[in-house]
Amino acid sequence: MRLARTLFRRFPRIGREVAAHVAPHQGYIDGVSHAHVTGWACNFADATERVEHEVFLENTGEILVRGRADVFLPGLREVGVGDGTHGFYHRFPRRLTQAEQDQLRVRVVPNGKKLTRASTVATTYQPLAFIVMDIVDNCNLRCPFCLYNYEGVHKTNLMTEETIDAAIRFAPFAADGAFWFSCLHEPTMHPRFVEYLRKMPPNQRRTIFYTSNLARRMPDEYYRFLANSGIHHINVSIESLDPAIYERMRKGARHRIFKENWDIMLDAFRAGKAPPKLRYITMAYKSNFRDIPALVEHLLTERQGSEIEVRYTYNEPHIPADFAQAEYLDDDEWLWLRDQLAPRLGKTVLLSMPPGVGEPKAPPPAASVSNAAPPPAPVVETSGTPPGFLPGRYGFKLIWDGTLEVRRVWGGSGPPEPSEVLLKSIDVREIADPEAFLASLPI
Ligand code: SF4
Repeated sequence: MRLARTLFRRFPRIGREVAAHVAPHQGYIDGVSHAHVTGWACNFADATERVEHEVFLENTGEILVRGRADVFLPGLREVGVGDGTHGFYHRFPRRLTQAEQDQLRVRVVPNGKKLTRASTVATTYQPLAFIVMDIVDNCNLRCPFCLYNYEGVHKTNLMTEETIDAAIRFAPFAADGAFWFSCLHEPTMHPRFVEYLRKMPPNQRRTIFYTSNLARRMPDEYYRFLANSGIHHINVSIESLDPAIYERMRKGARHRIFKENWDIMLDAFRAGKAPPKLRYITMAYKSNFRDIPALVEHLLTERQGSEIEVRYTYNEPHIPADFAQAEYLDDDEWLWLRDQLAPRLGKTVLLSMPPGVGEPKAPPPAASVSNAAPPPAPVVETSGTPPGFLPGRYGFKLIWDGTLEVRRVWGGSGPPEPSEVLLKSIDVREIADPEAFLASLPI
């Protein structure tokens, strides 16, 4: 897909008609591992065809899999490959050796045309786009803009050792930074947090990521471990260097304690051999937005920030109306902030503004469509992966009690339709063999 996209971008006029005169069957192998092969194939002379193909070993002639290229791959249609439903993703009936992976080919049936290997073939088997986990179900703070409604939450449930051990077995199937030790809640509330982090084998620690408010006192051992851990990255939340604004936003936190923790952590990271990258998350409000450009510079230059994310609030019904009314930015304030941050945007700063801010207003409906571009080809529904969802890719959500929800992962553009596909819900401790479990999931 990547090579295809590059090709079609460089030669923008190539499309269905042009390609039909070049060669009817084209396609690429985009990924090969011990367990899978993925790519696409299209007959440009007849893009309604779902190309039959077989996956085989060049040196022995062994045919591993036969199939049709009939999976919707996000991005294919945009680069002129039919309606986009020309992808394939196959699992192998057995584990391939490296030598066999090198000998793997895909050919079109019946003409025998072999697909090209893309120049950047993915060679790892990482079907997990993310494992999002919470080891507790509470937070030490009660920020007024929190996504989670903590009303009525007065106790903290903790993930057991048995559950974390079961979860960590899936790390080899996730990419760097894709194994979240926290999602909605504050992981440092777990009294065995450091011990649980240590459980991840050193060669898989690069999968770990989590967010912390850094407002709880932690033992020195915690910072020493982090500084040498090889963990991928940590998000730290901060809205302001001004203690009063900080404490108003991070309700329940003490700026003095936060600052002490922050200094201890940065000192440890300076001395450590493999500290995590630091990302900072800053929510933008009327109280702090004028100071955010200076805060961003400070975080990047003085506080080891590798990236700063400035965000708007996902407006949930439980967020107090008076807070929203007093603090949410209007469009002009967002645009001011965007302009101030412009030199760093897309490099070390991400700005997430409310939908529609800064986007051109939709033009009034045209009276005539005489020169309008033809509509894109309709998407063909397939019996497997719904259009827009990635074949062979899954998102795990694990909560403290061991409940694991397995979902398909959205890879298209625009709002997903259907919005999500839940494949199954299971207690992670009941999964005997993680790789066999992944292989049992529908493609
Ligand atoms: S620190 Fe994060 S999880 Fe905790 S209350 Fe604040 S926003 Fe919510």
